[in-house]
Amino acid sequence: MAARDADAALITSLANVRYLTGLASSNAALLLPASGTGAVLATDSRYALAAQRDCPDLELLTERFIEPALARVAADRGLRRLAFEAHEMTVERHQAFAGAAPGTELLPLGRAVEKLRMVKDEQEIALLARACAITSQAFDEIVPRIRPGMTERDLAVLLERAMADLGAERPAFDTIVASGPNGAIPHHVPSGRAFSPGDMITVDCGARHAGYHADMTRTVVLGEPAGWQRDIYALVAAAQQAGIEAATPGADVAVVDAAARGLIADAGHGDHFTHGLGHGVGLEIHEAPIMGYGRPGTLGDRVPITVEPGIYLPGEGGVRIEDTLVVRAGSGTAAPQELLTTTTRELLVL
Ligand code: ZN
Ligand code: ZN
Repeated sequence: MAARDADAALITSLANVRYLTGLASSNAALLLPASGTGAVLATDSRYALAAQRDCPDLELLTERFIEPALARVAADRGLRRLAFEAHEMTVERHQAFAGAAPGTELLPLGRAVEKLRMVKDEQEIALLARACAITSQAFDEIVPRIRPGMTERDLAVLLERAMADLGAERPAFDTIVASGPNGAIPHHVPSGRAFSPGDMITVDCGARHAGYHADMTRTVVLGEPAGWQRDIYALVAAAQQAGIEAATPGADVAVVDAAARGLIADAGHGDHFTHGLGHGVGLEIHEAPIMGYGRPGTLGDRVPITVEPGIYLPGEGGVRIEDTLVVRAGSGTAAPQELLTTTTRELLVL
């Protein structure tokens, strides 16, 4: 706010509101004066009791249309220059906000709160670790049940049920199960396709625990793998290991991406690795830092990320291996990466 010479910030990203206040809701915004006192949390009646419980130190405003209501509060209190989260506000909401407080100047805050969220404290890491433990355990439990004739949808439902039974509040995202040629589609939606011998099956899943999102992918093979399947699996596994080892505090995310991508490109599969190497995880499944796509960023101590290279061969199939890990400054002999998802990365031949 000081850098923008703003009188206050208006926080409207729900994940950012949750991070700053503790309130999880689908409709809340926070007016945060630069003076450091007098913050106002607005939410509607559905969340009023939760807000009283979770945010007892904040002034609460219960309103259906929270942004115009906060605009009027800001105007009443002489907060004229308001920094807002331009990256997540719609044109319509911006107009409603500006219309409710004529004379107020709105300027972009940038992703200031997202930058704070990138580095987790130990309590957050513990919640994320629990989400990852649930994910790995659920996956390990259902793997022996995979058989020919089972469909992609069957497996997705089984896995989500297993995560719920282990205490997940919900899946962190829609589970991906991509078998046979569908494996060439990185974000394939599970279909009624039945598995048959010789299929590789890619499963991308995660549990959400206390708002924190786990993310893990494994590719298994049904029956003895063909030579090409073993080859691309070994290549993706080596690329993932190289990416993990490059993920150290202070590392440029472009360098981490290149460490994995270089191995795949050198083997002639550069065009078959079509997405970024990984992303931050936390209160959102995809958050800063984003690795790949030329996005800038530097890793630091206590930054959880995924490392998830893949090779996708149209018409044939694909392999992706993904883990969630925490980059650590390390002490003594401790590695600078702590793996939170623990399912084996050896090729599982079922
Ligand atoms: Zn994933
Ligand atoms: Zn991911």
